Amino acid sequence: MPGTKHSLSDTSMNIKRLSDLADPAKTPRIVFKVGSSLLVGRNGLPRRDWLTMLCGEIREARLRGQEVIVVSSGAVALGAARLGLEKGGRGSLADAQAAAAVGQIELSGLWSELLGHQDLTAAQLLVTLQDLDERRRYLNASATIGKLLKAGAVPVINENDSVATHEIRFGDNDRLAARVAQAANANAVVLLSDVDGLYDRNPTDPEAKLLPIVEGVTEEIHAMASGDSSSGMGSGGMTSKLQAAEIAERAGIALAILNGTLLRPFNYALDNDTGTLFLPRRNDTSIKAWLGGRQRLFGSIMVDPGCAKALAEGGSLLATGITQVEGTFSRGDPVSICDVVGTPIAQGLVEYDSEEVQRIKGHRTEELQPLLGYSPRSAVVHRDQMVLL
Ligand code: GLU
Repeated sequence: MPGTKHSLSDTSMNIKRLSDLADPAKTPRIVFKVGSSLLVGRNGLPRRDWLTMLCGEIREARLRGQEVIVVSSGAVALGAARLGLEKGGRGSLADAQAAAAVGQIELSGLWSELLGHQDLTAAQLLVTLQDLDERRRYLNASATIGKLLKAGAVPVINENDSVATHEIRFGDNDRLAARVAQAANANAVVLLSDVDGLYDRNPTDPEAKLLPIVEGVTEEIHAMASGDSSSGMGSGGMTSKLQAAEIAERAGIALAILNGTLLRPFNYALDNDTGTLFLPRRNDTSIKAWLGGRQRLFGSIMVDPGCAKALAEGGSLLATGITQVEGTFSRGDPVSICDVVGTPIAQGLVEYDSEEVQRIKGHRTEELQPLLGYSPRSAVVHRDQMVLL
C-alpha cells in the first residue's frame, strides 16, 4: 500500500467540492465516521455485507495514496442486542456502559476481520473526552495515530464508553470524529449517516432542498437542523453533526455528511455530487485548533463591548475590560470569554486563578501589582492562547 506523498499542512484549504475528498493532493488524510445504524441491523446483528463494501472503499482510498482513519460507532447497539437490554442499551448510562463493554469486542473483531480481507491491518484506539481535552494526552493520541498511519495500519477509533460518565463524555461520535481529525492532522471528515446531508428545512417537507456546500455554520444553518437521530439507534442527529462541522471548520478541516445507506456510499456521493460539504474556514495553529475544539471549560469571563472589539481585532484579554467572572478555575485552565449578553466570543487558557481575576477585574494593568501581590502577567488570557469563535 502506498503511503501519502503529499504534505498534510494547508492542503485542506483547497477542498472546494465533494470530489476533492478522493484527491490525495487535496485530501491526503481522511476520517470516515460510521454510524451505528449503518453497522448494526434492526435485529441487532452486524451488517457484514455493508461493512465489507465500505472496507473495499477504504482500500481504494489507500491505493489512491490516501491515509484513512475510521471512527466507528456500534458498540452499544451490538452489546445491547447480545445482553438483551431494552432501548438499544441507551435506557441508562449503566446499560450503555455494559453494552459497550460487550459490543466493543465484537466491533473491533469485525473491523479487524473485514479490513484484513482487504490486506489492511486494523488498529483499535478507545478514547475519552479527557484524552483529547488534555493537551499532553491529546499529543500522545496524535503521535500514536501518526505512527500507526506511517506503519500502514487503519486506526479504528471509538469512545471508551464503558468508563466515560455523563459529564465527561463526547456522547456522540460526530464530535469525536472532528476531534480525532484534529489530533490526526487530517484534511477531511466524512460522516456516513442515514441521511443525504443537511436540508434547508425539515426533510419531510416536499419543498426541502439539500444544501450541497456550507460556508460557515451560522445561526441560520443551526436553525435548519433538528436534534434527533433519525434511526433512533445512534445518539447523533443533525445538531451533533453541525457541532462537529464547527470544530472542523475552525481547524481548517473539511467535513461532509453523506448518505451511507447506498451501495458504495463514498463513491456514489462523489460521483453524483450528493451530500453536504462544509468548507474549512480557517487554518488555526494546532494549539488554537485544539483549544477551539475543547468541550469542557472551567468558567466564564464576561467582557465589556470595548474589550470584545479589541479581542475581535486580535488583542489579548486584559483585566480592565472584564465585568464579571463565573466558575472556579485555576491558572492554565480553559475558560469561555463572553460578551455583555453572555454570548461566547472566544475561549482560551487563563493566566490567573478565578479568585485573582475577581480581584483584578475592571482594573488597569498599572493597578494590578498591589492587588495581586506580585508583578502582573502580560494578560488575563494571552492572544496566543485564545481562539475566537
Ligand atoms: N460510542 C457509541 C457506540 O459505539 C456511539 C456513539 C454515537 O452514537 O455516536 O455505540
